[in-house]
Amino acid sequence: MPIIDPTLPPDHDEGSRPLERQTWPAIARGLRLRCPACGEGALLRGYLTPIPACSHCGEPFGHFRTDDIAPWLTILVVGHVVVPFALWSEQTFSPPLSVSMTLWPLIAAAGMALFLPRAKGATLGLMWSKRLTGEESQ
Ligand SMILES: [Zn+2]
Repeated sequence: MPIIDPTLPPDHDEGSRPLERQTWPAIARGLRLRCPACGEGALLRGYLTPIPACSHCGEPFGHFRTDDIAPWLTILVVGHVVVPFALWSEQTFSPPLSVSMTLWPLIAAAGMALFLPRAKGATLGLMWSKRLTGEESQ
Protein backbone atom coordinates (compact mmCIF):
# COMPACT_ATOMS: atom_id res chain seq x y z
CA MET A 1 0.00 0.00 0.00
CA PRO A 2 1.66 3.25 -1.07
CA ILE A 3 1.98 6.11 1.36
CA ILE A 4 -0.20 9.04 0.32
CA ASP A 5 1.18 12.49 1.07
CA PRO A 6 -1.59 15.13 1.37
CA THR A 7 0.72 17.74 -0.14
CA LEU A 8 0.97 15.80 -3.41
CA PRO A 9 -1.72 15.85 -6.08
CA PRO A 10 -4.48 13.37 -5.26
CA ASP A 11 -4.17 9.90 -6.75
CA HIS A 12 -0.34 10.07 -6.77
CA ASP A 13 2.26 8.30 -4.62
CA GLU A 14 5.24 9.79 -2.78
CA GLY A 15 7.25 9.84 -6.02
CA SER A 16 4.48 11.88 -7.66
CA ARG A 17 3.70 8.89 -9.85
CA PRO A 18 0.02 8.16 -10.55
CA LEU A 19 -1.37 5.34 -8.44
CA GLU A 20 -2.47 2.25 -10.33
CA ARG A 21 -6.19 1.94 -10.85
CA GLN A 22 -7.83 -1.49 -11.04
CA THR A 23 -9.61 -2.01 -14.34
CA TRP A 24 -12.18 -4.75 -13.65
CA PRO A 25 -13.59 -3.25 -10.43
CA ALA A 26 -13.88 0.10 -12.24
CA ILE A 27 -15.76 -1.55 -15.13
CA ALA A 28 -18.03 -3.43 -12.69
CA ARG A 29 -18.83 -0.21 -10.83
CA GLY A 30 -19.54 1.51 -14.14
CA LEU A 31 -21.89 -1.32 -15.14
CA ARG A 32 -23.79 -0.64 -11.91
CA LEU A 33 -23.85 3.07 -12.91
CA ARG A 34 -21.71 3.94 -9.91
CA CYS A 35 -18.55 6.01 -9.70
CA PRO A 36 -15.58 3.86 -10.84
CA ALA A 37 -13.38 5.45 -8.16
CA CYS A 38 -15.48 4.94 -5.02
CA GLY A 39 -18.47 2.85 -6.15
CA GLU A 40 -20.87 5.07 -4.20
CA GLY A 41 -21.87 8.16 -6.18
CA ALA A 42 -24.03 8.09 -9.31
CA LEU A 43 -22.11 8.10 -12.59
CA LEU A 44 -24.75 9.44 -14.99
CA ARG A 45 -27.44 12.06 -14.71
CA GLY A 46 -30.45 11.67 -16.92
CA TYR A 47 -30.04 8.86 -19.40
CA LEU A 48 -26.46 9.11 -20.73
CA THR A 49 -24.85 12.32 -19.48
CA PRO A 50 -21.82 11.79 -17.23
CA ILE A 51 -21.93 13.76 -14.00
CA PRO A 52 -19.36 16.59 -13.78
CA ALA A 53 -17.91 15.08 -10.58
CA CYS A 54 -18.81 12.29 -8.18
CA SER A 55 -21.09 13.50 -5.39
CA HIS A 56 -19.38 11.13 -2.93
CA CYS A 57 -15.63 11.35 -3.66
CA GLY A 58 -15.40 14.32 -6.05
CA GLU A 59 -13.69 12.41 -8.88
CA PRO A 60 -14.32 14.39 -12.10
CA PHE A 61 -16.10 12.67 -15.00
CA GLY A 62 -17.40 15.55 -17.10
CA HIS A 63 -14.29 15.64 -19.30
CA PHE A 64 -14.51 12.02 -20.55
CA ARG A 65 -15.47 11.53 -24.19
CA THR A 66 -16.70 8.01 -24.82
CA ASP A 67 -17.88 8.84 -28.35
CA ASP A 68 -19.64 5.84 -29.91
CA ILE A 69 -18.04 3.01 -27.92
CA ALA A 70 -21.16 2.46 -25.79
CA PRO A 71 -23.60 2.20 -28.73
CA TRP A 72 -21.29 -0.22 -30.54
CA LEU A 73 -20.89 -2.28 -27.37
CA THR A 74 -24.66 -2.27 -26.92
CA ILE A 75 -25.28 -3.49 -30.46
CA LEU A 76 -22.65 -6.20 -30.00
CA VAL A 77 -24.03 -7.51 -26.70
CA VAL A 78 -27.77 -7.16 -27.34
CA GLY A 79 -27.43 -8.55 -30.86
CA HIS A 80 -25.62 -11.62 -29.59
CA VAL A 81 -28.33 -12.19 -27.00
CA VAL A 82 -31.44 -11.50 -29.08
CA VAL A 83 -30.54 -13.05 -32.45
CA PRO A 84 -29.93 -16.60 -31.14
CA PHE A 85 -33.28 -16.54 -29.33
CA ALA A 86 -35.01 -15.23 -32.46
CA LEU A 87 -33.46 -18.00 -34.56
CA TRP A 88 -34.29 -20.62 -31.94
CA SER A 89 -37.94 -19.50 -31.70
CA GLU A 90 -38.21 -19.43 -35.49
CA GLN A 91 -36.98 -23.00 -35.79
CA THR A 92 -38.86 -24.30 -32.75
CA PHE A 93 -42.25 -22.56 -32.98
CA SER A 94 -42.36 -21.08 -36.51
CA PRO A 95 -44.47 -18.11 -35.37
CA PRO A 96 -46.32 -16.01 -37.97
CA LEU A 97 -44.11 -13.43 -39.65
CA SER A 98 -46.12 -10.54 -38.17
CA VAL A 99 -45.43 -11.83 -34.66
CA SER A 100 -41.69 -12.21 -35.31
CA MET A 101 -41.46 -8.82 -37.01
CA THR A 102 -43.15 -7.18 -34.01
CA LEU A 103 -41.78 -9.13 -31.06
CA TRP A 104 -38.05 -9.29 -31.77
CA PRO A 105 -37.51 -5.63 -32.68
CA LEU A 106 -39.37 -4.64 -29.50
CA ILE A 107 -37.25 -6.99 -27.40
CA ALA A 108 -34.08 -5.71 -29.08
CA ALA A 109 -35.08 -2.07 -28.55
CA ALA A 110 -35.92 -2.70 -24.89
CA GLY A 111 -32.62 -4.53 -24.39
CA MET A 112 -30.70 -1.70 -26.00
CA ALA A 113 -32.52 0.91 -23.91
CA LEU A 114 -31.63 -0.99 -20.75
CA PHE A 115 -28.04 -1.83 -21.69
CA LEU A 116 -26.87 1.43 -23.30
CA PRO A 117 -26.41 3.39 -20.02
CA ARG A 118 -24.59 0.41 -18.51
CA ALA A 119 -22.33 0.17 -21.54
CA LYS A 120 -21.60 3.88 -21.14
CA GLY A 121 -20.86 3.34 -17.44
CA ALA A 122 -18.56 0.41 -18.19
CA THR A 123 -16.79 2.47 -20.86
CA LEU A 124 -16.34 5.34 -18.42
CA GLY A 125 -14.99 2.89 -15.84
CA LEU A 126 -12.49 1.47 -18.32
CA MET A 127 -11.40 4.92 -19.47
CA TRP A 128 -11.08 6.16 -15.89
CA SER A 129 -8.96 3.13 -14.88
CA LYS A 130 -6.62 3.65 -17.84
CA ARG A 131 -6.54 7.44 -17.40
CA LEU A 132 -7.96 7.97 -20.87
CA THR A 133 -10.20 10.96 -21.54
CA GLY A 134 -10.98 10.34 -25.19
CA GLU A 135 -8.95 13.30 -26.42
CA GLU A 136 -7.32 12.93 -29.81
CA SER A 137 -3.83 13.61 -28.39
CA GLN A 138 -3.79 10.52 -26.14
ZN1 LIG B 1 -16.89 8.59 -6.39
